[in-house]
Amino acid sequence: MGQDITLAQLRDWLLRYADLIDERAAYLTELDAAIGDADHGANMVRGMSKVRSRLLEDVGGCADVGTLLRTVAMTLISSIGGASGPLYGAFFMRAAKETNGDLSVSLGELTRMFRCGVEGVQQRGKANLEEKTMLDALEPAVDALEQAVVSGHSPEHALTAASAAAQEGMKHTIALEASKGRASYLGPRSIGHQDPGATSSYYLFATLADAVGKNK
Ligand code: ADP
Ligand code: MG
Repeated sequence: MGQDITLAQLRDWLLRYADLIDERAAYLTELDAAIGDADHGANMVRGMSKVRSRLLEDVGGCADVGTLLRTVAMTLISSIGGASGPLYGAFFMRAAKETNGDLSVSLGELTRMFRCGVEGVQQRGKANLEEKTMLDALEPAVDALEQAVVSGHSPEHALTAASAAAQEGMKHTIALEASKGRASYLGPRSIGHQDPGATSSYYLFATLADAVGKNK
């Protein structure tokens, strides 16, 4: 409790996420080949490589938390052709709206930002839980953060719990039938496959837990 999550930790998070996306691109594409159009890895690599270059060049991209997250949102929206671009864009854009010129945020603030981010994804994609989408990882992660805030846990503890909840949610998509996005075209044949977007969403929380845990 009490420790803030700093701009430097958030920037490190996004660089770690870009690296993990590179590392897992083939796997994400393989998951999307089973129930979609085999481009989720390539889509995420395109978007996050752009984010990485902007952060490393530091062209007005990370002056404060709001600017950082807005830069990520705009970069993903403008560089990813698939559904995931506008959806992740909505997540980061709505989260950014909840902060101003802050150089750090409390766990409570970050949790509120992410709750708004999830609502942004819901509004854009019109999906709810259990429809086999990224929301099945994002929403349990934010639920876990909210519980951790109530319990007064440290950011590190809270984000580790959020990452575990996202991973559970990701695995749970295997059993679900898709009713949104391309995978819904398969109907019951989508059952038995893990959702690619839920997988990249789990990575988002896994890398955040790492970034905060390792940069204390
Ligand atoms: P596309 O489906 O256009 O090829 P991607 O392959 O990059 O885009 O992303 C697919 C992922 O996007 C899915 O695995 C799913 O998690 C997510 N997704 C698709 N439609 C929706 C939606 N309406 N709401 C939330 N997430 C969605
Ligand atoms: Mg796809």
